[in-house]
Amino acid sequence: MKKTIIIGASHSGQMVARELKRFDADHEVILIEKETVTPFIASGINLVLKQAVGKLQEATAPIADLNKIGVKSYFGYEVIKIDWQQKIVFFTDGVKKLAETYENLVLATGSRQYVSKKYAEFSEIYCYKSFFQSQKLMDALETAQTIAISGLGHAGVELAEALLQDGKKVVLFGPNQRLLQAYYDKEISDFLLSQFERKKTAVLCADHLIEVTKKDKGLKLQLIESSIDCDLLVIANNSRPNSELYWDGVTLLPDKSVAVNSYLQTTRPNVYAVGDLIGIPELITNKKVRLSKVTHARQTARTVASNISGKKFPQPKYLNTSSTELFGFYLGSVGLTKEQAQQERKSITTVKVGTLASIEGSQIFLHIDLNEQIVGMQILSKQPVQIFCDLLAIVIRNRWRITDLYYNATSFFPMSVTLTPLLNEAAADYLANFNEVKKNSDQS
Ligand SMILES: Cc1cc2nc3c(=O)[nH]c(=O)nc-3n(C[C@H](O)[C@H](O)[C@H](O)COP(=O)(O)OP(=O)(O)OC[C@H]3O[C@@H](n4cnc5c(N)ncnc54)[C@H](O)[C@@H]3O)c2cc1C
Repeated sequence: MKKTIIIGASHSGQMVARELKRFDADHEVILIEKETVTPFIASGINLVLKQAVGKLQEATAPIADLNKIGVKSYFGYEVIKIDWQQKIVFFTDGVKKLAETYENLVLATGSRQYVSKKYAEFSEIYCYKSFFQSQKLMDALETAQTIAISGLGHAGVELAEALLQDGKKVVLFGPNQRLLQAYYDKEISDFLLSQFERKKTAVLCADHLIEVTKKDKGLKLQLIESSIDCDLLVIANNSRPNSELYWDGVTLLPDKSVAVNSYLQTTRPNVYAVGDLIGIPELITNKKVRLSKVTHARQTARTVASNISGKKFPQPKYLNTSSTELFGFYLGSVGLTKEQAQQERKSITTVKVGTLASIEGSQIFLHIDLNEQIVGMQILSKQPVQIFCDLLAIVIRNRWRITDLYYNATSFFPMSVTLTPLLNEAAADYLANFNEVKKNSDQS
């Protein structure tokens, strides 16, 4: 009988466990996890503030009933050492010391946010990835009025919006040039910025934190261009892999992620790594990126489970697919932004269709390269866009050209308004206006 130990029982670890059991019910699977509330949704505070869940404990995304499927789990136990030669994992709950041998080992210890050591003693600075950290922040938020958030990505922007809804004063800052820069072109970032401005919220882009000092009450943050007085500072960026435990057993890369091959095996046979611990190549640029996303955690987990179970399956390349809801609008992004295409020296044409005032209530931007392949899509909409983004991910992954979208038939059901006909519109617009420009430039 095969035996696999998984360290970490969050989104990736639990998925590996479930899939291993699905492929072989006799496979002995052991999960070891230091926390007790897991897989915790790192943005759980937003769910509470927006009343999507009643209390923080409910912000979890369990993958399976582990007992029911026969996974042996140790919650509240931290792995403290691995004997790589003898294949033994040592773990403890602070009192009992236990050890288990393995045939396969899966490293699923994810990542955590990082605060400079010089501020380690500052009780007004908060990270909020785990349940325990989030609970501490929730308690502090009860009395805090002005909250500074470091990070202009999804985590920072979504927390800022949820806190504004809760009546707090928020200042958002970070080194990026604009909001959600890794996912959206300037048009959508500017739209978001205008929403924050309407709420009289300061957003300080392209600014760096130099120094934090304690005041009688709260903190003073000195940035290069400005300063902020706040009750507390929340770190919504700076995630780093939890890989300290592995340095003597497997190769770590300069960013501290675990080196893996395309089957997600580390430099040591029978030892695999998943989720936030690893980087994988991006589909269009082939650049390796370390990702921090639940979808990536689950996908890499499926790859590892199938490989351990003998179904050799390489990890598919990464394609950005993300969506969110902010200020009552839905935003979605798939593939490359204009900026990312430029960085790759990829020439693209952008076709824009729809308006927020239209019946579909949506504006779509399609990025098309010189081979007429769709390499990116962004959407701003009054209706949910998650399924639409997943659809576009399939289109881009399968290397569809814009002409394929023109000739693709979309369903017609008069009782509901869908977004797919807008893709026909975008393709028609491209064929009518841009295609000729390209032909002319090819001929000259
Ligand atoms: C503030 C914030 C908001 C986010 N919001 C989103 C979002 O909206 N959507 C999205 O897709 N992603 C989001 N993410 C990213 C997402 O949380 C991660 O990508 C995801 O949690 C990664 O899952 P994982 O299983 O790889 O690792 P993790 O979730 O980091 O889990 C690793 C687990 O390993 C355990 N562990 C670590 N060391 C040990 C040890 N020595 N022994 C035993 N157990 C150990 C930890 O306790 C933890 O439970 C967010 C991240 C942050 C920080």
